[in-house]
Amino acid sequence: MNSKKHAIIIGGGPAGLTAAYELLTQSDEYEVTVLEASDMFGGISKTVAYHGNRMDMGGHRFFSKAQEVNDWWEKMLPLQGAPSYDDIKLKREIPLNAGGPDPEKTDETMLIRRRVSRIYFDGKFYDYPISLKPQTFKNMGFKNTMKCGFSYLGAMLHKLPEDNLENFYINSFGRQLYSMFFEYYTENLWGRHPSEIDASWGAQRTKGLSIGGIIKDVFGKLFNVKNREVNTSLIEEFKYPKLGPGQLWEVTAKKIEELGGIIIKNAEVTELKKTGSLITSAKYTKNGQENIINGDVFVSSMPIKDLVGGMNDVPAEPARIAEGLPYRDYMTLGVLVDKLALKNLTDMTTIGDIVPDCWVYVQDRNVKMGRFQIYNNWSPYLVKDIENTVWVGLEYFCNDTDEFWNQSEEEFAALGIEEMIKIGLIDSKARVLDTHMEKVKKAYPAYFDTYSDIDTLIDYLNTIDNLYCVGRNGQHRYNNLDHSMMTSFEAVKCILSGSTDKSAIWNVNTEKEYHEEGK
Ligand SMILES: Cc1cc2nc3c(=O)[nH]c(=O)nc-3n(C[C@H](O)[C@H](O)[C@H](O)COP(=O)(O)OP(=O)(O)OC[C@H]3O[C@@H](n4cnc5c(N)ncnc54)[C@H](O)[C@@H]3O)c2cc1C
Repeated sequence: MNSKKHAIIIGGGPAGLTAAYELLTQSDEYEVTVLEASDMFGGISKTVAYHGNRMDMGGHRFFSKAQEVNDWWEKMLPLQGAPSYDDIKLKREIPLNAGGPDPEKTDETMLIRRRVSRIYFDGKFYDYPISLKPQTFKNMGFKNTMKCGFSYLGAMLHKLPEDNLENFYINSFGRQLYSMFFEYYTENLWGRHPSEIDASWGAQRTKGLSIGGIIKDVFGKLFNVKNREVNTSLIEEFKYPKLGPGQLWEVTAKKIEELGGIIIKNAEVTELKKTGSLITSAKYTKNGQENIINGDVFVSSMPIKDLVGGMNDVPAEPARIAEGLPYRDYMTLGVLVDKLALKNLTDMTTIGDIVPDCWVYVQDRNVKMGRFQIYNNWSPYLVKDIENTVWVGLEYFCNDTDEFWNQSEEEFAALGIEEMIKIGLIDSKARVLDTHMEKVKKAYPAYFDTYSDIDTLIDYLNTIDNLYCVGRNGQHRYNNLDHSMMTSFEAVKCILSGSTDKSAIWNVNTEKEYHEEGK
C-alpha cells in the first residue's frame, strides 16, 4: 500500500512548479500532482512560439537579490560560457561563466543581457527610471526642466500624506515629473487614476527609487563606490533564458516528471472541498469532464478570488473580500517588421543598428499602447531572422469586460499598426510582415477595492491548515518571478516541518531593504 502523502499543486507557473520541484527533491514522503489549467508551463512567464519567432509576455528580466533563487535558476539553465550570436557579431564583451554552455551550440543556457529600457515621451527617449543626465534636460527643454526642479523642491518642503499613489509619486519626484512620466502611464495600466490607488503599489514598483536615490546613484558611479546597494530599477544586467522565460519552466516541468511528479495539463481547478480546517479534495475539469482528486496538502497559485469562490462554507466577510479583488488584464500584439523608423542615437551597438532597448514605456496620451518590447534585444534567439527583421511586442492593459478585450485579431492588429505609425515606430504599414495576438487574463493583481481588507482574507485562509497560498495571484501581490518562487520555498519548508504558521510565506516581498534607502 502506498503510504505517501499526496500534495496537490494548483498551477504550472513559476510558483507551482517551484513548489513541486522542491517537495520532490527535499522529501520522499510526498506524491506530487500539478494541475495546470492551460496547455503551457510558466503561467504569465510562458513563451509563445509563432512562425519561428518567440514572444515573452511583458518581457521577463531574471533578477533577484536572493542567492537561493539565482542558484536555482542556474541549476536549471547554467549561465552561458561563450558569447551569444549578437555579442560575437558586435564584438561585445559580457561576463562569461567558465566552462558554461555555448549558446551557439546548445539551447539549455541562461544568457547575460544588458538592461536597456527607456521612456518614449513626445517622440524622444528618456531614461527609465528618469535620470539626471544632460540629455534628459535637453529633451525636456529649459522651461520644463525648471518646472520639474521647482516642483521637486516644493515636494521636498511640503510632503503630502502618502495615502494614495498620486501623493507617493509627487513626494518622490515632484508634481511636474509625476504628471509627465507617471500619471497617464499609471492610469492606462490600472484603469484608475493614481489618486484612487493604494500607495503600496508605488513602493513596490519604484522600489525605493526617488530623486534622492537617483542623485546617489549618479555619484556612486562617478566615484565608483563599491558594494553599494543598487535599486532594482537601476540594475543594468539581467539573466535571461536563451529561448525566453517559458524555457526555464519547461525544463523544470521535465525534471519534475523525471522525479516522479505527475503533471496534468488542461486541468482547471473549479472547486475545493473543505471539511473542518482541512481541504480534502479538488475538483478539476479536463476535456469537459469533471474529476475529483484527493490530497493531504494543497499548494495554490491560482487567483485567490477563484480559489475562495470555489470553496464551500466560506464566511461572508472573507468571501466578500475575495469576490471583490480586482485585476488588470493584458493584451499584446507581436509585430514583425523589416525596419523600425526609430534611430539608434545611443553609443550601444545592435544588429541592424536598431534602438538598443529591451522594452520601452510609452507615455503618450494619444495612444492606448502602454509599452513595447523589442524581442531582438532580449535574446537574438527569439527571432527567426535577426539580421533582417525586428520582432516587436506592443502591450495594452485592459479589463476582460472591456470591448477592447473582445476585438478580433484583425481589429487589434489594425489598431496596433496605426499606433506604431502615429508615434513614429514605423513609417508605414508596408513595413509589417506578420502579426500575432496574445491575451493574458489577470496579469496584474490590483491594489484597490477590497484589497484594503486583504489581511482579513489572509487570516481566514491561514485557518485552513493544509492550504498554502503561493505566487502572484495566489497571494494577490505584485510578485516578481523570484518572489513567487520564494513563497513556494517557504511553503515547502512549512509543509515539511509540519508547521501551520504561514507568516513566512506571506512575508515574502514585503522587502524591507527596498524601502530603507541608503543601506
Ligand atoms: C507584463 C508583465 C511583466 C513582468 N515582468 C517581470 C520581470 O521582468 N521579472 C520578473 O521577475 N517578473 C515579471 N513579471 C511577473 C511574473 O510574470 C510573475 O511573477 C510570475 O509569472 C508569477 O508566477 P506564479 O506562478 O505565481 O503565477 P502565474 O504565472 O500566474 O501562474 C499561475 C498558473 O496557474 C494556472 N492556473 C490559474 N488558475 C488555475 C486553476 N483554476 N486551475 C489550474 N491552474 C490554474 C495558470 O494557468 C498559470 O499557469 C511580469 C508580469 C507581467 C504581467
